[in-house]
Amino acid sequence: MHLNKIRKSLKFVGFIITNLMKRTILFSLLLASSLSLTVLAAANKQPNKDTETSGSSTATDPDLEYTAERFADIKLIRYRVPGFEQLDPKKKELLYYLYEAALSGRDIIYDQNYRHNLQLRKLFELIASQGTVSADGEDLSANQEYKNLMTYIKRFWFSNGVHHHYSNTKFEPTFGMEFFQDMVRGLDEDQLPLKEGQHPEEMIMELSEVIFNNGSDYKKVVKSSGVDLVAASAVNFYGEDLTQKEVEAYYASLPKEEGNQPEYGLNTKLVKEGGAVKAKTWKVGGMYSPAIEKIVYWLEKATTVAENAQQREALQKLIAYYKSGDVKDWDQYNIAWVNDTESRVDVVNGFIEVYNDPLGYKGSFESVVSFKDLEATQRIEKISREAQWFEDVSPIMAEHKKANVKGITGKVITVVVESGDASPSTPIGINLPNSNWIRQKHGSKSVSLGNIVHAYEMSAKEGRSSLGEFAISDEAVMRARKYGSLADILHTDLHEVIGHASGKVNEGVGTTKETLKNYASTLEEGRADLVALYFLFDQKLVDLELMPSLEVGMVAYDDYIMNGMMLQLKRLKPGEQIEEDHMRNRQMIAKWAFEIGQDDSVIVKKVIDDRTYFVIQDYQKLKDIFGFQLRELQRIKSEGDFEAGQILVEKYGVKVDPELHQEVLDRYAALDIAPYGGFINPILKPVMEGNRIVDVKIEYSQDFTEQMLYYGNNYSFLPVE
Ligand code: ZN
Repeated sequence: MHLNKIRKSLKFVGFIITNLMKRTILFSLLLASSLSLTVLAAANKQPNKDTETSGSSTATDPDLEYTAERFADIKLIRYRVPGFEQLDPKKKELLYYLYEAALSGRDIIYDQNYRHNLQLRKLFELIASQGTVSADGEDLSANQEYKNLMTYIKRFWFSNGVHHHYSNTKFEPTFGMEFFQDMVRGLDEDQLPLKEGQHPEEMIMELSEVIFNNGSDYKKVVKSSGVDLVAASAVNFYGEDLTQKEVEAYYASLPKEEGNQPEYGLNTKLVKEGGAVKAKTWKVGGMYSPAIEKIVYWLEKATTVAENAQQREALQKLIAYYKSGDVKDWDQYNIAWVNDTESRVDVVNGFIEVYNDPLGYKGSFESVVSFKDLEATQRIEKISREAQWFEDVSPIMAEHKKANVKGITGKVITVVVESGDASPSTPIGINLPNSNWIRQKHGSKSVSLGNIVHAYEMSAKEGRSSLGEFAISDEAVMRARKYGSLADILHTDLHEVIGHASGKVNEGVGTTKETLKNYASTLEEGRADLVALYFLFDQKLVDLELMPSLEVGMVAYDDYIMNGMMLQLKRLKPGEQIEEDHMRNRQMIAKWAFEIGQDDSVIVKKVIDDRTYFVIQDYQKLKDIFGFQLRELQRIKSEGDFEAGQILVEKYGVKVDPELHQEVLDRYAALDIAPYGGFINPILKPVMEGNRIVDVKIEYSQDFTEQMLYYGNNYSFLPVE
């Protein structure tokens, strides 16, 4: 289900990807699969004919360097938009309007992530645009604190706020508070982003607290058990004085609609007013109105150049929803959007994924604007056409199978721009809508972001490789080099197109958000991964000519186990446990499979020269284990068995072996690889004749800082209140 997942995946992708080259093994894949979004795992492979499945359609430009910049744990990658120039002018015009609509919502994600982010961002823009000269004329370019502040600002932009996009914890500043305060005092006071009535010194104190006090609002999203998740999370979806109990009571009091439950709470902030809990709706005339009005303005333009009636209807319904703020209108929009299958151009724009809400109600703003990659889409269609076959032979219990698997319309898209929660860190696959009943009744759309994945892969090839370090044998390395890309792509496709669409919830059982609560996302990602894993080692894929042999499945299994047992730990700091849903899911599946197969030595742990490896000895048996796990996770979802789900996640998905963790960190450190990747968008510029757009040009010239300042100048619509 859920789009969400997909998105997340992308984020992961970034890091993972980074480099597999040398020995490369498994790594890349792992990631990919797990996430919903599926990230980009691509990294490993060398380009070679056998692995180059993904697509011809993503042409390579020899002049373009993919990796634009590296800092902290991040690298920024430029992606190309192959095929854009060849689109007819009307489609380009449509893409341009949707591009503007996407960027118009950018402010929203900053404010959603944390209530101080917008003001801080505007202050940072001021600092970054003033060059390197201090108030008293001193050149700061060689000053280490200044450099560290700039790195902090770039990390802030990358994460859309002060909390790390992945670990969710506040960045640690490596510049002094005094330095920061002096810097701000040296800025032109008239340009400071003050709140109404705020004195500059008040702002300086307040924002210093935000940056330097790790004791407050340390985590954006807290999902651990045993704490008040609402109070403990810094994310700006709930008023500061609200408790989890009050929020839960509020949602429990809303009407239940049999069979078509709207996503209540998706587009609101909850606050307490006069002792009562109230929802402030994100809509025209409501909260975030100045940005949403701009979005609507551009969407209205888009309706005038829609490709067909169905697409126009969908856009009109999206506008209606932004105006009414009614989540039932959101449902109507999603139904129209799912039914728009003929159009070449597509857009995701709204409050969608709920990962940033510890309770899973609130949608983070995001937009992804794209057009269909016709060639690569054929591969997914092949899988899609077999959806019923996969469902019929799936190891899940007969009563949990869908008699008619519907509406799976996987495709490969070429991204034109991303915004909000999808940028600069991006998903590599998207599966929407998230509403369960719409998915069941009307189907869903599943896409993989072809040009993004391609850029990740290319960027990985520019850097050093990492997988080699973690592969135990040359044979495994060779196999991964040969088939790693293909295994990643197929894992992603199966996860999205078949995995999330498979299975059904028993009559009378609530949504997984209600039944499985904070474990719902982890268990759902696990379920989709297991569908992919199960079939990746199935002759059917060979028969369909999707892969040349079962060796591709072996590579996928190697990657998954290696990542789930070890590699992904590189994203955690010493002492941390796993909180992120996709990471939990991967470790849960891997550790649980390891334990199930222990008596048969299906997976064995080997330590050679102080290096730990997990080695699969029997791939067929591991497939059977994955089938068993899938059956159980589907049962948990179908029956809404919270206790069973909780036990699995807590027992296998959360805890980290500190020794193994340190080993992973040490081995990674030696490789010097940026664990996270994100993307710089192209710029679209309309070519006018009078007041008519006759063509749209695409440019790739901006670097990261330039782009962030450009967006700040052109798309700042929300006040700092
Ligand atoms: Zn997923």
